[in-house]
Amino acid sequence: MNYRATPITRPLRIGIVGGGQLGRMLTISAKKMGFIVAVTDPTPESPAGQVADRQIIGGYKDEKSTRELAKISDVLTVDAEFVNDEVLQKLEDEGAVIHPSPKTITVIKDKLKQKEFLTSHHIPTAEFKSVTSEKDVEEAIEIFGLPLLLKARTDAYDGKGNFVIHEKSDISKGLEKLKNRSLYVETFVPFTLELAIMVARNTKGEITTYPVVETIHVESVCDTVMAPASISPRAKKNAEDIAIQVVDKLDGAGVFGIEMFLTKDDRVLINEIAPRVHNSGHYTTEACITSQFEQHIRAITGMPLGETTMLVKAAVMKNILGEKNGDGIPEGLEKAEKIPKTFIHMYGKKESRPGRKMGHITVIGETIEECLKKANMARSFLVI
Ligand code: AMP
Repeated sequence: MNYRATPITRPLRIGIVGGGQLGRMLTISAKKMGFIVAVTDPTPESPAGQVADRQIIGGYKDEKSTRELAKISDVLTVDAEFVNDEVLQKLEDEGAVIHPSPKTITVIKDKLKQKEFLTSHHIPTAEFKSVTSEKDVEEAIEIFGLPLLLKARTDAYDGKGNFVIHEKSDISKGLEKLKNRSLYVETFVPFTLELAIMVARNTKGEITTYPVVETIHVESVCDTVMAPASISPRAKKNAEDIAIQVVDKLDGAGVFGIEMFLTKDDRVLINEIAPRVHNSGHYTTEACITSQFEQHIRAITGMPLGETTMLVKAAVMKNILGEKNGDGIPEGLEKAEKIPKTFIHMYGKKESRPGRKMGHITVIGETIEECLKKANMARSFLVI
């Protein structure tokens, strides 16, 4: 398609490496705003491929499809950090416009490098140490004590690639579970709450933050997000300050998801940075003036950032994770859809599997309690 009757003032064609649910929701926003969108994904009719103008079949790390995408895009972005950052770096060196910067993706996709980046900028995070052997882990226990988390450095998300070491005898089990992967350990943070905040920076350097939210993880996977978080003004300020500090030190435009731990004395430590839209920001679609997805498209295409204020007093997001192998559409949808101010998003995945992110529910309302009750009720009606 060629729309160029007038000189281009901003990129028109957006390429997304990765066609999962984040790519899908980014594409839906971009299409509303008039952009042409292509995605790469190994699975035909991927969640994003179903709504994009074009899908190139290819894995997240595949050089050929990433290059093909770059050829038909004015700006490239990603729906995950486990992409081929070396290829993206080469493409940027060859003149492609990529947000966030491949340098940022290189730092973030390796959790150990991410920790080193944070400490080099004096940003609080759990203490950590690179490990390659049982002896290294024993040494780490000597230094930090127990419990410790053994974590895979790359391709690790939703707790996949994490192992908790409660006692010395767990070390060999952990190393066996995560064999053939580069590892590090970090200290266990006795947090009171888990928090997250989405931050956006556009190509002009303007930065804006979304409300601080509370996240609840079940078996290391995000289960529920409550917006705004019920925390003290001091904790809120600490979270906002630290999130801006993080993004300020990273190159490139886009939305960043910053996950944090809150301690009992209202200090905030960074758990993890995502160089992209994030599960903890899904609530913004119904609850904020500008959704995180629209904001990311605005940020990477040189548009002014949108307002991030909430339109409602409270919102709760609950993930719809697969419980069994089967169909991608849940039973019980109609019953759940009848609940007022309840929005059910399905990602168009053909098959459900235990633990697979199949969709999410957002409820908006006057209080967190009311929204939480409805979100849990809606989820209980669904079988997937
Ligand atoms: P991750 O995928 O590494 O963010 O870990 C998933 C979840 O595991 C987090 O949301 C926390 O609930 C828990 N977790 C990860 N790292 C730590 C830590 N250092 N201390 C305490 N809990 C942690």
